[in-house]
Amino acid sequence: MAKYTGADCRLCRREGCKLYLKGDKCFSDKCAVVKRPTAPGQHGTSRKKPTGYSIQLREKQKTKRIYGLMEKQFRGYYDKADKMRGQTGDNMLILLERRLDNVVFRMGLGLSRSHARQLVNHGLLTVNGSRVDIPSYLIKAGDVISVKENKLDKVVFADIKTGRTENLPAWLEFDNATLTGKVVCLPTRQDVDFPVEEHLIVELYSK
Ligand code: SF4
Repeated sequence: MAKYTGADCRLCRREGCKLYLKGDKCFSDKCAVVKRPTAPGQHGTSRKKPTGYSIQLREKQKTKRIYGLMEKQFRGYYDKADKMRGQTGDNMLILLERRLDNVVFRMGLGLSRSHARQLVNHGLLTVNGSRVDIPSYLIKAGDVISVKENKLDKVVFADIKTGRTENLPAWLEFDNATLTGKVVCLPTRQDVDFPVEEHLIVELYSK
């Protein structure tokens, strides 16, 4: 699977807002959006009047980058959502929220979505007792996600055991002591906690 290998902070500067791709750094004074709030590159400071198309494109790019996906994979979620009942935009966001790497991040096991994806890729986690190393795995209501028993002592989880679940969404449960979480119910559109105008993405893709 192709992946973006450039600087994460450039993506935030390009979108003109924080995408929270770097964990704790995003909440510090070192955040590039705070230090250099202009688009990257030679023409980053030039101002062009945005067109309807560019507004739709930026909304799609922002959402895609927040979830750390490449175009083909992101488009796949739109296509899948389009075939489902209900609002395509809502369905797409819910599918993205249900990705295992996102759920691991939301539970506080990863510092960022890319960190959570790494934990999944390295096979440190189980879903309902079975090892799952596919970040795009779609969780279901009732799924139990845990750190593999022989990985519980890893340094990467030391901070979490002492508590980092203040932002835990209502659709998830997490026990810091055992590093085990449960999907109480599937997320809804209201559980997407960053500003996104999904109708712009739908308009872009449905052209
Ligand atoms: Fe974006 Fe985080 Fe870098 Fe700030 S520190 S620019 S929020 S990735």
